[in-house]
Amino acid sequence: MTHLTVPIMVDDPQAALAAADRAAELGADLIEWRIDRLTDDAVGLDQLIERCPLPCIVTCRPIWEGGEYKHDEVGRLALFQRVAGASRPPAYIDVELAAYQSTAAVKPCVESFGDTGLILSAHDFDTRPADLLSKLEAMAQQEACRVIKVAWQARSLRDNIEAFEIIGQKLKPTIALCMGPFGLPSRVLARKFGALLTFASLDDDAATAPGQVSIGQMKNLYRWDSIDSKTQVYGVIGYPVGHSMSPAIHNAGFDQTGYNGVYLPMPIGLGYESFKATVGTWLEFKALHFRGASVTIPHKENLLRFVAEQGGEIEELAQTIGAANTLTVRADGAIYASNTDYAAALDSVCAALDIERGDLGGRRVAVIGAGGAARAVVAGFAAYGAEVVIYNRTPAKALALAEPFGEDGPVVGTALDQLDASDCEMFINCTPIGMHPDVDASPLSAGKLQSLGRGAVVFDTIYNPAETMLVRQAKEAGCVTISGAEMFVRQAAGQFELWTDHAAPRDVFGQVLKKYLGQ
Ligand code: NAP
Repeated sequence: MTHLTVPIMVDDPQAALAAADRAAELGADLIEWRIDRLTDDAVGLDQLIERCPLPCIVTCRPIWEGGEYKHDEVGRLALFQRVAGASRPPAYIDVELAAYQSTAAVKPCVESFGDTGLILSAHDFDTRPADLLSKLEAMAQQEACRVIKVAWQARSLRDNIEAFEIIGQKLKPTIALCMGPFGLPSRVLARKFGALLTFASLDDDAATAPGQVSIGQMKNLYRWDSIDSKTQVYGVIGYPVGHSMSPAIHNAGFDQTGYNGVYLPMPIGLGYESFKATVGTWLEFKALHFRGASVTIPHKENLLRFVAEQGGEIEELAQTIGAANTLTVRADGAIYASNTDYAAALDSVCAALDIERGDLGGRRVAVIGAGGAARAVVAGFAAYGAEVVIYNRTPAKALALAEPFGEDGPVVGTALDQLDASDCEMFINCTPIGMHPDVDASPLSAGKLQSLGRGAVVFDTIYNPAETMLVRQAKEAGCVTISGAEMFVRQAAGQFELWTDHAAPRDVFGQVLKKYLGQ
């Protein structure tokens, strides 16, 4: 069993005990008392250990190892002696390998703890230490050492794989964690690989190490209780990805369908080489069961290149679009790159009109914007025979987007100021005009919308706000309207169905999206 451990930095033992009660209520298995700020004459120290509602670890981390204890070793050992004297001793005491090796008085002090397990630990808050492996060996060789703990600042997602390998060596019960923005997988997947424990803060702002998430996020967002050695791993690859809604959406989908998966943010730094090295390493490490990813800015083009180089399969339209947003790893390990954005846009329109994709042939579609979203929408509608006019602020970009479809092809580009004169029957906004906080803006005038009236389709790909000015005015004019939320949910559903063989719970996705946006 991997213990979900809540570290509590102690100032006032009574307040700390109240915090531990709350951690127990939230489902923690262990408490780590961080007594860095106390001295050996602290009032209430014994009660802290004796009354703890859960088994506990006692840690007094000195400043030189990244903690807050600022007094000398004599004082620290005296503090430990008081802990050892508690009538109900702690389950574990954490001592740094460096202190254990260099201070002779540490060993007898630790041995006086009786049944309390000794965790020998090493931390590096800057990088992966060059001597990591020799430290592990040194810990394993100490007879008194019951648990090995290493934690270091991850340089990239790849460092998580080394943490999993260290746990897998089973030298002794092990804690191997990566800190910082790249380290989340090591924290969440500690359970998958059988680490002794992982840490989660009591509240969002109570982390005791960089990158630590709260127990609420661990349990409710990252599905802690469902994770086991067979859990399939997914994520959102991009940079940055900290604010992505996709983990909330896909994990809710896994919950709803009972699928054994977990979905994580997967930040990968800029550049193809970073993408290739990281995704390559994750795919090679089979025990991870890395089965797919949503891929966003700046890696959509990198995904196509990577899959092509690896001899994987690429969806034809993703190739035409020049960008893919979904990586799927099939059961036999083969990789597939596809784009669920264009399909989501097409199907949003077809559902609103109660038609099939094949019925789009000959329809005149105005696409507003010539960026990434427009590229997918244009390719999708052109592939099903629609005639597309791209209206863009920078006309040259509209022309460039139309150019591959041929001089007399189904796609033409023009300036945005021509939009009011458009004779199209369908309008798709692929610009941020009208997006929060600029909610009073709209790419189409109210007069133009009134002139379109019934039968026309107005589709705003923006999902924040839920109802943009464009959609509101189009509704008032009697047009058929489609919101960006519809497209967002459909593109996520497309990914979910590629990965899981389950029908995506689109209603749940919609609810999560609304909640996330505070709607
Ligand atoms: P992008 O690649 O940056 O392209 C933005 C486009 O909007 C460009 O053509 C740009 O014109 C134009 N634009 C930006 N600001 C403008 C302004 N003030 N006035 C006129 N035109 C302006 O962005 P993207 O990834 O395509 O995303 C565009 C929109 O699509 C976003 O608002 C996003 O919410 C939405 N989207 C929704 C979904 C969904 O699932 N619902 C998915 C993807 C995107 P220039 O070429 O002149 O710079």
